[in-house]
Amino acid sequence: MQYDVIIIGAGASGLTAALNAKKNGAKVAVIAKTLPTHSQTVQAQGGINAVLYEDDDSVEQHIEDTYKGSYNISNKRNIEYMCKNAKDTILWLDSIGVPFNRNKNDKIAQRKFGGTKKIRTCYSSDYTGLKIVHTLYDQCISNDIQFYNEHQVLELIVSNNECFGCIAYDIVDGKVKEFMSKSTILATGGYAGIYKNHTTNSLSTTADGIAIAFKAGADLSNMEFVQFHPTTLENTNILISESARGEGGLLLDENENRFIDELSTRDEISREIFKKIVKKEKVYLDLRHIEKEKIEELIPQEMRLASEFSNIDISKELLPITPAAHYSMGGIKTDINTNTSIKSLYACGECAQTDIHGANRLGGNSLLEIVTFGKIAGINATKNLSTETINQETINKYINQNKSKIKTLLQRDKSSYSIHKTKNTLGDLMFKKAGLFREEETLLSLSKELEALEASLDSIHIDDKSSIYNKNLLEYFELENSICVSKTLIFSAMKRKESRGSHYREDFNKANKLYEKPSILTYKNDQIDLNFEDIK
Ligand SMILES: Cc1cc2nc3c(=O)[nH]c(=O)nc-3n(C[C@H](O)[C@H](O)[C@H](O)COP(=O)(O)OP(=O)(O)OC[C@H]3O[C@@H](n4cnc5c(N)ncnc54)[C@H](O)[C@@H]3O)c2cc1C
Repeated sequence: MQYDVIIIGAGASGLTAALNAKKNGAKVAVIAKTLPTHSQTVQAQGGINAVLYEDDDSVEQHIEDTYKGSYNISNKRNIEYMCKNAKDTILWLDSIGVPFNRNKNDKIAQRKFGGTKKIRTCYSSDYTGLKIVHTLYDQCISNDIQFYNEHQVLELIVSNNECFGCIAYDIVDGKVKEFMSKSTILATGGYAGIYKNHTTNSLSTTADGIAIAFKAGADLSNMEFVQFHPTTLENTNILISESARGEGGLLLDENENRFIDELSTRDEISREIFKKIVKKEKVYLDLRHIEKEKIEELIPQEMRLASEFSNIDISKELLPITPAAHYSMGGIKTDINTNTSIKSLYACGECAQTDIHGANRLGGNSLLEIVTFGKIAGINATKNLSTETINQETINKYINQNKSKIKTLLQRDKSSYSIHKTKNTLGDLMFKKAGLFREEETLLSLSKELEALEASLDSIHIDDKSSIYNKNLLEYFELENSICVSKTLIFSAMKRKESRGSHYREDFNKANKLYEKPSILTYKNDQIDLNFEDIK
């Protein structure tokens, strides 16, 4: 199958890229391992940032807040681009049908999020991501964009540092297929999901695209920065959106005293909460003082989640909460045009590191980033269609390697290693030793434990031997990718000998000017290398 542009991933970034590539006349296909309506973006609740009305806010202030939130390791020009275009981004989403809440004057309503004192987050009650994805998907269908759902991409086809497409496993019929393209866009989402059982991310957010790109030779950046969200339901890690605090929710200790400004940055609040939790103290979100009608109107999903999963009525009772891994600031290194270090390969969305969020992302800035850079990726990939070709022999080599790997995996005898147990172990270890607090000693021991987990991949067996809908096989690939990305995270966390934003080293508990730079990871000849590089 030959396309002009292939987009891997059907969250808001991938769908925006697809619409823009199609609009520019390209033959486009979107490949995704889930259905678009199951992408991580549908879980985004709180909202999307933009300065719409300049009476009390300004684009300059949005730029400044984002830069400050990044702890000075982002690119001001890129932030400027995103913030200056934010109003148009919202108006475009509004024009295609995203049902944003309106205020009394019928203007798009906004709420307050952390890390800023201004009210600039647009929302669709607390279903913002879901409404955006549904609207974008509708648009893609009416624009006849070709979808290959339930296709898990296994590898990129790369020759002489140029990407020619990808190899995917068709989950429905068990076939290994090649998808050839003149430009390829990775929009596969982030890697906070590797903290399994300690994350707000969906089970399918397993860092695939980042691992695949890294193995193909693309540079990664800032992998040490993973944001923990302060408020998830105790024992479930289900997110209670920042909009709950934005609408006036308070954080209380077990004596029902406030202990922090609820609208400080997420990294600061999460660490303060976690310090209490390790001392076996409880922390609560208090919404009892907010009128029930207001809760029902503005945060209905949070009310339902608390009731269904914790059996708590937030209009009357305190809600016990805990922090969980939520968002990954690092990813595939790109420039402002979404170019990666591999020719004809672009990246956008949470899998990309576009020098916007640095060491800490502000709530509401991710949805804005993924739509902004999804658009750039779609346009840029279409403008720069490669004229190079690749021979059939190389494509066959990729196909045969993957077929034979699957065959070997399915033939493996039963062993004591299980995929699920290993995924859980990985999540627990990462949370304990590379979570909210890190230090040299624990990172070193984690690195050894990870080597053992990686070695176990050679013995893990696949329970399900069927050739259709073999989800067990897919989980194996996801585990392989999660381990690969965990290694890059630990490697980067060890090298950054300072504390900055979400990366807190107990043995270097202050920021150090020497490290006021993004980290760049390269993978060549089976070796990982890391440099801290100035922002260009
Ligand atoms: C619970 C929650 C609430 C959030 N709330 C907000 C919010 O209010 N505001 C905000 O700004 N941000 C929020 N975020 C962050 C934001 O939702 C994400 O950063 C964003 O949705 C990522 O979008 P994406 O397009 O990059 O990828 P995703 O939406 O994660 O989509 C990834 C796509 O890639 C596909 N894929 C992955 N691997 C493969 C593979 N191997 N082969 C084929 N396809 C693959 C998946 O199937 C999926 O279609 C929230 C995040 C979470 C977890």
